[in-house]
Amino acid sequence: MIGVVGTYALPLRNRFRGLDVRHGLLLRGPAGWAEWSPFAEYLRPEIDAWAGAAVEAAVVGFPEPVRDRIPVNVTVPATDPETAHRIVRGSNCTTAKVKVAERGQYLAEDVARVEAVRDALGPAGRLRIDANGAWTVPDALSRLQLLARFDLEYVEQPCAAVEDLARLRRELARRGSSILVAADESIRRSGDPERVAALEAADIAVLKVQPLGGVRRCLELAESLGLPVVVSSALESSIGLRAGVALAAALPELPFACGLNTAAMFTTDVTGEPLVATDGGLAVRDVEVDENGGWRADPGTAGWWRERWDDLPESLRSLG
Ligand SMILES: [Mg+2]
Repeated sequence: MIGVVGTYALPLRNRFRGLDVRHGLLLRGPAGWAEWSPFAEYLRPEIDAWAGAAVEAAVVGFPEPVRDRIPVNVTVPATDPETAHRIVRGSNCTTAKVKVAERGQYLAEDVARVEAVRDALGPAGRLRIDANGAWTVPDALSRLQLLARFDLEYVEQPCAAVEDLARLRRELARRGSSILVAADESIRRSGDPERVAALEAADIAVLKVQPLGGVRRCLELAESLGLPVVVSSALESSIGLRAGVALAAALPELPFACGLNTAAMFTTDVTGEPLVATDGGLAVRDVEVDENGGWRADPGTAGWWRERWDDLPESLRSLG
């Protein structure tokens, strides 16, 4: 019922998440195209949820949209300030997300990068940072104090532990800070969202369709969390992004720009019409794979992905 169409290899313009090339599997079912692209180091049972998202897209399709356009942010990797400035200026976006706290870099590099991005956005632009859980609570407090002058919309996953996010939120409030805290990595597995809500650890929930098991599962999560949602990508091709767009389009409220403009970080895509921002937003539309495009991975890589998919239990690769 679901056919494997091929494995993509999409080079990144700038190294991101330790990757120079992103790989993933493209599938096709009765409802349309789907992507399955858990990062190479992920194992079962973590990759099972990713399969749930792929099966939903291929077999069930997406829920009805309530909007036809999704505002998105430009994502700025942990690069030098000149590159950061250029990425924002070339993006068509008025919201930027800046990676900070990269291992091996100094705080001064974060400050210079955030300053360059604020300069590129102008005072009206929105600027958020993502520390990927790298900071302790005291680290986060001192760094946020230093970065607050660049008018931060929110800080994403400043600390790794949910308890630390909660402590940081309380301390920021006590100091009269208006910086919001978003939870990303803290919302990955079942049980995580309940903990974030119970500990009041975040103001905003970052939801990613593949790791959380599909668009409908994310809609249920959003409702149970009761927090504003930012839909983000798992650095997918435009086919995977299409599912994120479907989630963002179906949410009752969408107060923040989404992290779905990541196709702009690749030098090529699996379609002739990639989902990249025009005027700061993505259109809610279907994406067709160009089967003759130059996106296919080498046979060795393709074989590894094919085997990885075939190794999943049959019940996960179909609608049960
Ligand atoms: Mg993040």
